Amino acid sequence: MMNQNFYKQLTDKSIAGEALSQEEARDVLVSKDVELLTLLDAAFTVRKKFRGKEVDIHILNNAQNGYCPEDCNYCPQSKPSEAKIEEYPLKSDQEILAEAESAHKRGAHRYCMVFAGRGPSRKRVEHVAQLIRSIKSQYPIEVCVSAGLVDQEGAKILKEAGLDRLNHNLNTSKQHYPKVCSTHTFDDRVNTLQAARKAGLQVCSGVIVGMGEEPSDVIDVAQTLRSMQAASIPVNFLIPIEGNILDKKALLSPEYCLRVLCLFRFLNPQSDIRAAAGREMHLRGMEVMSLYPANSLFLDGYLNVKGEERRSTLQMIKDAGFTIRSEYPLDDLIQKETVQSSTPQRDGATKSLLKDIQDLRPQLQ
Ligand code: SF4
Repeated sequence: MMNQNFYKQLTDKSIAGEALSQEEARDVLVSKDVELLTLLDAAFTVRKKFRGKEVDIHILNNAQNGYCPEDCNYCPQSKPSEAKIEEYPLKSDQEILAEAESAHKRGAHRYCMVFAGRGPSRKRVEHVAQLIRSIKSQYPIEVCVSAGLVDQEGAKILKEAGLDRLNHNLNTSKQHYPKVCSTHTFDDRVNTLQAARKAGLQVCSGVIVGMGEEPSDVIDVAQTLRSMQAASIPVNFLIPIEGNILDKKALLSPEYCLRVLCLFRFLNPQSDIRAAAGREMHLRGMEVMSLYPANSLFLDGYLNVKGEERRSTLQMIKDAGFTIRSEYPLDDLIQKETVQSSTPQRDGATKSLLKDIQDLRPQLQ
């Protein structure tokens, strides 16, 4: 077993802004001599130092779904995927604004608009910029956009419109990247992040664990995001969707997932570390422990996949003694969800993993 100095050194190095050595990073992920609870405590010390006991809630809006020409193997919106998702072109401005308002009222600190595709045309960039202006002028909410590959001019236009963050996930290491996508490269993704940084935007970029990578690939992504000073890092665990090329559930134990979150915290001490897609499926009964290394999560599921009920997530945050970053008290939000969930469920509610059209476009109802 590792002695206490090992854990203290991880905490001290992280708080001092020093990177872990390759060996330490590997031990965090896979050493049998590392005790999970002591490791979580070490990561929690770093989290508390920089992010207190607050949880940032993020809500995604799939502004357009499907029709993507790219071939990312994990994505049900990709061209080769045969997943039965609800495809639709870009939502109306009115629908997107109504969803922003609703996200704000549900306690979201940040509203993320996601546009499928390789990257936006200049016309689309101008349109997104207009949406950002409208949202920022009406609601006190941070805005993040995910729109594929964006060049420097595009990033500048979005920044000038008031965008806070640009999301573009690296997903995996440079070495592993060709195994998950052939239509663009890891470097293309890095270039987008660099364009965002040059424009003065915060960078949100994450990983998907469980795509056949080695622990060394996970370490590479955590180190690359550290070098890019990513303000926000969604740590996703692959949700296998029938019809996707990557349609098999990876053998990720809850313990390994928690270790991954700890690694990202140690290497990116001041960043938002988000327990993102797949937290329910892969962390299972240990989900609440993700709040010790991570300070953020998604509410209302993911792009095409349902998540845990809103009330359960909010209650989990409260039960563990955390608070949320919102103008609405956590107790009030839980109360509101309790009232709403005691009303009859809509007819024909599906138990499927995939979101249906009512989940994706609630403002149309
Ligand atoms: S570019 Fe984005 S939307 Fe398109 S397949 Fe890849 S992950 Fe999915």
